[in-house]
Amino acid sequence: MEYMPNFQLHRPTSAEEAVKLRSEEPEALYVAGGTDMIVNVRRGIEQPENLIDLSGVTELKTITEDDEGLHIGAGITLNEIATNEKIKADYQAVAEAAAAVAGITHQQYGTLGGNLCLDTRCLFYNQSEWWRQSNDYCMKERGDICHVAPGGKRCFAAFSGDVAPAMLVYQAEVELVGPEGSRRIPLSEMYQNDGMNHLTFNPGELLTVVHLPKALAGSPSRYEKARIRGSIDFPLAGTAVRLEMDGKKVKDIAIALTGVNPFPQIVKGTEDYIGKAFDDASLDALRDNVRKQAKPMKTTTVAPWYRRRVIGALARRLTEELAG
Ligand SMILES: Cc1cc2nc3c(=O)[nH]c(=O)nc-3n(C[C@H](O)[C@H](O)[C@H](O)COP(=O)(O)OP(=O)(O)OC[C@H]3O[C@@H](n4cnc5c(N)ncnc54)[C@H](O)[C@@H]3O)c2cc1C
Repeated sequence: MEYMPNFQLHRPTSAEEAVKLRSEEPEALYVAGGTDMIVNVRRGIEQPENLIDLSGVTELKTITEDDEGLHIGAGITLNEIATNEKIKADYQAVAEAAAAVAGITHQQYGTLGGNLCLDTRCLFYNQSEWWRQSNDYCMKERGDICHVAPGGKRCFAAFSGDVAPAMLVYQAEVELVGPEGSRRIPLSEMYQNDGMNHLTFNPGELLTVVHLPKALAGSPSRYEKARIRGSIDFPLAGTAVRLEMDGKKVKDIAIALTGVNPFPQIVKGTEDYIGKAFDDASLDALRDNVRKQAKPMKTTTVAPWYRRRVIGALARRLTEELAG
């Protein structure tokens, strides 16, 4: 890994100040826990002249609750989420996903905002400077072609954050603050299917709060991922399932995926199961539907066909478990 390059570090103490700094220096980048950003800076993937450190912005570090639900600040650490009794009880998959990120030391520093805004990853991108240079770089960074799909015009780098799918099955919404003011949108609309530009942020926007609705508090859910090293690794494929049963029949179901597309994705077609009981045939059909919608490419050392098989198997297993 390269030496740390020179850059100017700004230390705002409010979200407003952070956004103002960002609009004065449009090429500046936000850094929260730094567990991903600093690796990318040291690899030369990011070459910022200005970094805006969010760790002193205390307003991002609160968890509040009201009639609408739970409001989690973007600066809350993954460890705080994984160990929060309210989140564990009411939004179980969210706590499980936070506990599944990297290793425990990353969870102490890594934040919710950093995890949801995580850059997409690829075998040809998350490499040292000399490695990328000797491959003529790639479309996502200084190069012209995508080594994963050299004939194409798109980047297939995969979104590999663990927490997003768990938030998606609970229909989370996010608060974004930018130079033009703030807006609140469904988390699902914060992403798009583009490995080079997977966040739909307007220039300079800062993620401040994630809202989890009270209406879904206590709705049973699980998160599970496949990874190479069990102690510390990104998901090769990860899935969150939320399933409410009414006796033996499905009352409500949502499934979301990570690691298998350039964006965290809600699985379509799950409403077809509502009002029906699960049996082996319908669980197999659910598994196959998940596999169809996952489109892993050669962005990791593990073959896409395996990741597609695994994601379907995980979704089937979690659904069966939750269905009791
Ligand atoms: C060895 C290793 C293993 C890892 N394994 C995993 C894993 O298994 N699963 C996983 O999900 N991640 C993993 N990570 C990545 C990372 O540790 C986590 O995703 C972490 O949650 C990132 O949070 P952070 O606060 O450190 O983000 P940072 O590194 O500070 O920032 C990440 C990105 O988010 C942006 N950002 C941060 N906060 C905000 C905000 N409030 N508004 C707008 N943009 C923002 C930054 O500009 C940057 O682009 C791993 C990292 C390493 C080094």
